[in-house]
Amino acid sequence: MTRETANPAPRHDWTTAEILAIHDLPLLELVSRASAVHRAFHDVDDVQKASLLSIKTGGCPEDCGYCPQSAHHREVHLGKVERLEVETVLSAARRAKEAGADRFCMGAAWRNVRDGAEFDAVLEMVTGVRALGLEACVTLGMLNEAQARRLKEAGLTAYNHNLDTSPEFYDHIVTTRTYGDRLETLRAVRAAGLEMCCGGIIGMGESVADRASMLRVLASLDPHPESVPINALVPVEGTPLGTLERIDPLDFVRMIATTRIVLPKARVRLSAGRTALSREAQVLCMVAGANSIFYGETLLTTANVRVAEDDTLLTALAARPNASRLATEQ
Ligand code: SF4
Repeated sequence: MTRETANPAPRHDWTTAEILAIHDLPLLELVSRASAVHRAFHDVDDVQKASLLSIKTGGCPEDCGYCPQSAHHREVHLGKVERLEVETVLSAARRAKEAGADRFCMGAAWRNVRDGAEFDAVLEMVTGVRALGLEACVTLGMLNEAQARRLKEAGLTAYNHNLDTSPEFYDHIVTTRTYGDRLETLRAVRAAGLEMCCGGIIGMGESVADRASMLRVLASLDPHPESVPINALVPVEGTPLGTLERIDPLDFVRMIATTRIVLPKARVRLSAGRTALSREAQVLCMVAGANSIFYGETLLTTANVRVAEDDTLLTALAARPNASRLATEQ
């Protein structure tokens, strides 16, 4: 029996070579091992539905090569929207809850959090979302520890801050900040006692070794992130990565399975790029360990799977959203 199934305790000392060897296993062997780890750590019926709303869209000073919201990508035709009013956001959260979401995620296209009226409004949104009985997650760019503590006091469940890719490939994708900046924000999130939502994107021209290297960095965080969104690039015309081909769905499956093995306790979220997966490919991702989806017709700025299709899929799987959390709350 291999090390990762014989001793499934979460590890923080994975090497890129070890992860790469797992990633490159024959596909059925990989999925079968990932599925065993998934069953050892999770109720497989428990699929979380997270709803995502952009609360401030476009005009971002960062230059992330994949992102249509960057002000650097002038060819992108994206309507800029100033920060939404608190009540507008809470109405959307209420609708998401009525539709069956467990977690409400809010994203603002900021380089970093600045104290003042804008941040105060976000704190109000967080408190309002929690009062509805939903988990609350925000992604606001870089922040310091004092700001992370204010979010925690407002009731925030988790802060999203993705590593995007490996440290080696990072400056091919982003030049306006460093990998160290990302890690510093993650440190502040943990210091404030917040859950961490942190993952990345595949299909940006990186090598498979880069994917393994990103997972190595995620696994080196102690504790591991509670949520790990895995995105496939949705190439958007006008962005530097807009002409890349979409990845093969089986590469998505491999990445999900490897993530499940390396980060056994995390919620692995099938995120952007799900529209390009058939229903059957999505089921294979769930067999390989994905146990969370973004639920709702749009992700920050790109289309998502239609809600009715997700409902049909989850019914077919007999999935019970957030079953383990609900059980522990009873
Ligand atoms: S990914 Fe975030 S930080 Fe980067 S350009 Fe887009 S909105 Fe800005």
